[in-house]
Amino acid sequence: MDNVIVITGASRGIGAATARLAACAGYRICINYLNDDEAAQKVLAEVRELGADAITVKADVSVEDEIIQLFQRVDVELGPVTALVNNAGTIGHKSQLEHMSEFRLLKLMKTNVVGPMLCAKHALQRMSQCHGGKGGSIVNVSSVAARLGSPNEYVDYAASKGALDTFTLGLAKEVAADGVRVNAVRPGYIFTDFHALSGDAERVSKLEPSIPMGRGGQAEEVAEAIMWLLSDKASYSTGSFIDLGGGR
Ligand code: NAP
Repeated sequence: MDNVIVITGASRGIGAATARLAACAGYRICINYLNDDEAAQKVLAEVRELGADAITVKADVSVEDEIIQLFQRVDVELGPVTALVNNAGTIGHKSQLEHMSEFRLLKLMKTNVVGPMLCAKHALQRMSQCHGGKGGSIVNVSSVAARLGSPNEYVDYAASKGALDTFTLGLAKEVAADGVRVNAVRPGYIFTDFHALSGDAERVSKLEPSIPMGRGGQAEEVAEAIMWLLSDKASYSTGSFIDLGGGR
C-alpha cells in the first residue's frame, strides 16, 4: 500500500522532524503550515533530498474551507491519505484565566481542538473502509499539560489538549471497525520555537532542573513515537497515549 501522510504544522519543530522521519520511512508527504513559507520550503527540500515525493500546502487548520482544499490537493498530487498527524497547535502568553480574552480562548480552541477534529473528519472520508478506503492511522499531538493543567500559565492551552485527549479516546472507538487507528503523543518541554509564542523562548532551558530526567526533549524524540504509532508495528494500538515528558 502506498503511504500518504498529511502532517499539520510541519514547517518547524515536531512536525518538521516527523516529516523527515516519514521521508525515511517511504511516505509521500504533505507539509502543511500557516505562515512561514521559507521554513516550509526548507523542510520540502530536506524530505525530497531523502527521496520523498512531497508537497507544501499553506492552510489554516482552524478554517474548514482551507482544510477541504488541502485534502483535495493531496488527492490529486499525492494520492489518498493513509496517515494524518494533527500536530499544528498554538499557545498564548503566560497568564491567569481572569486576564484571558474571549478572542484568545476562541482562537486557541479553534486551532488546537476544532482544527484536529476537522482534519480527522476529512481524512476519515478518504481512509475509512466504510467509504471504500483502505484504512489508516491518525496521531494527535497533545501535551503533558492535559494531565497537569498548567495553572497560572495556560489553563486554556492545557484544557485544549485535554479535549484533544478525550477526542482521541472517542474517535478511536468510533472508527476502530473501519480500519482506522487513532492515538496520541503527549510531549513535555521540547526544544522548539513554540515557546516564543508563550513569551519566553528560553523556557525549556530554564525549566530543565524541574524535569526528572534533567533535560528538555528534542523534536526528533517525539517524532519517533509518532512514527511508531502510525506504523504497522503499532497495529493493535488505538485510543493509546505515549507520554514524552522526561518523567513529568
Ligand atoms: P512550533 O515549532 O511552533 O511549530 C508549530 C507549527 O504549527 C508550525 O509549522 C506552524 O506554522 C504551524 N501552525 C500553527 N498554527 C497553525 C494553523 N492554524 N494552521 C496550520 N499550521 C499552523 O511548535 P512545536 O513545538 O513543534 O509544536 C507542535 C505541537 O506540539 C503543538 O500542537 C504543540 O501544542 C505540541 N506540544 C509542543 C510542546 C513543546 O514543548 N514544544 C510540548 C507539548 C506539546 P508556521 O511555521 O507557518 O507558523
